[in-house]
Amino acid sequence: MIDNYGSIIGEKEIIELKSIAEKLKGKKILNVNSTFKGGGVAEILNKMIPIMESMGINIKWDIIKGDADFYGVTKKFHNALHGVKENFSAEDFEIFLQTNNKNIEKINLDADIVFIHDPQPIALVNAKKNNGWFWRCHIDLTNSDEKVYNFLKQFISKYDACVFSSPYFSKTDIEIPQYLIFPSIDPMSDKNKELDDKLIEKVFFDFNIDIKRPIITQISRFDRLKDPIGVIKAYKMVKRHVDCQLVLAGGGADDDPEGAKVYEEVLEEKKDDPDIHILMLAQNDILINALQRGSTVILQKSLKEGFGLTISEALWKKKPVIASNVGGIRYQITHKYNGLLSNSIEGTAHYIKQLIENPEYAAYLALNGRNHVKENFLITRHIKEYMLMFLTEKNKDVIYF
Ligand code: UDP
Repeated sequence: MIDNYGSIIGEKEIIELKSIAEKLKGKKILNVNSTFKGGGVAEILNKMIPIMESMGINIKWDIIKGDADFYGVTKKFHNALHGVKENFSAEDFEIFLQTNNKNIEKINLDADIVFIHDPQPIALVNAKKNNGWFWRCHIDLTNSDEKVYNFLKQFISKYDACVFSSPYFSKTDIEIPQYLIFPSIDPMSDKNKELDDKLIEKVFFDFNIDIKRPIITQISRFDRLKDPIGVIKAYKMVKRHVDCQLVLAGGGADDDPEGAKVYEEVLEEKKDDPDIHILMLAQNDILINALQRGSTVILQKSLKEGFGLTISEALWKKKPVIASNVGGIRYQITHKYNGLLSNSIEGTAHYIKQLIENPEYAAYLALNGRNHVKENFLITRHIKEYMLMFLTEKNKDVIYF
């Protein structure tokens, strides 16, 4: 399977990846996060694990399981770490710890390397023995609520190393080694592979969207931090001047209890505009791929964003992207070179109009975008950096380069 990527990244890279993987053979690696589907972390793990297995690495993936109260608390953590005001009781922290402790008994943590993703399962580290533990933070911690961050810090310090998606998010008060590793997309996956035009047309036809008129699309979970209401407001401003349609498509994530409520708010904002299409979708990568490929402009108007895989997904498909000037988005888009960064609803509306009216400029940005993703955000680079991190941090004995 890794060999399939040679046509994109070159055979030399494949040989290098395989030789690094060789050093990890015989080591058991376990990933733990909080959901098998929905959101960027599950997206990456779903694609990464089979590729690493194809290089002979013994890598597994499990999830922490909890009840509705636990996911309620972890969603509040998530919001608060992004700077949203939330109220916490002592019981919230208790629920968090109890659920982590119960999972310590259920999950087989007996691996050479345990790779924990995001805050939900962070306290599993209480079961650390003499094996290597890494914490991967996918979220933007620049403005995090102190109470939650300090609570998490007691666990972070027990890890061997942690990984952030941006130098902005790294912390000066953490003493363990910190790695900067950007997320990535899989160019060969159903989400990102080339699609037949007929299939793309059919998807739009089935949703009753006119592929001949401009289409503005945002693909995101229904989450306030993705600002779907702001997207509709920007569309409405554009619509006064230019004919266009809006697609807001997203599914839920198993660990996100707020999705249904936000979906209702979005429907309310849509009112009866037949050119606004709010699509609540079951996980379907080909469908998302087709929606991205058939759109005129892709938006990611997040208020906070650890990275925003949807941006690289769109750029890879040579689509012009307008995204908020926040968090990890800034590594994917250099303003006016390979996309546009906006700071407001008005700015977003202005750029949408500009891209619809000037397709040549849109194509210029998009082509630069594709090249930027090819150089920086493909899954093969991501795998290489993880493997090197595992080798350098915990398994110094197996390095003999
Ligand atoms: N996604 C999807 N279906 C949806 C909504 C999102 O497959 O209905 C995917 C999207 O294509 C991307 C991931 O979920 O691969 C979202 O990752 P991102 O980093 O953009 O945001 P997160 O949800 O992790 O905050």
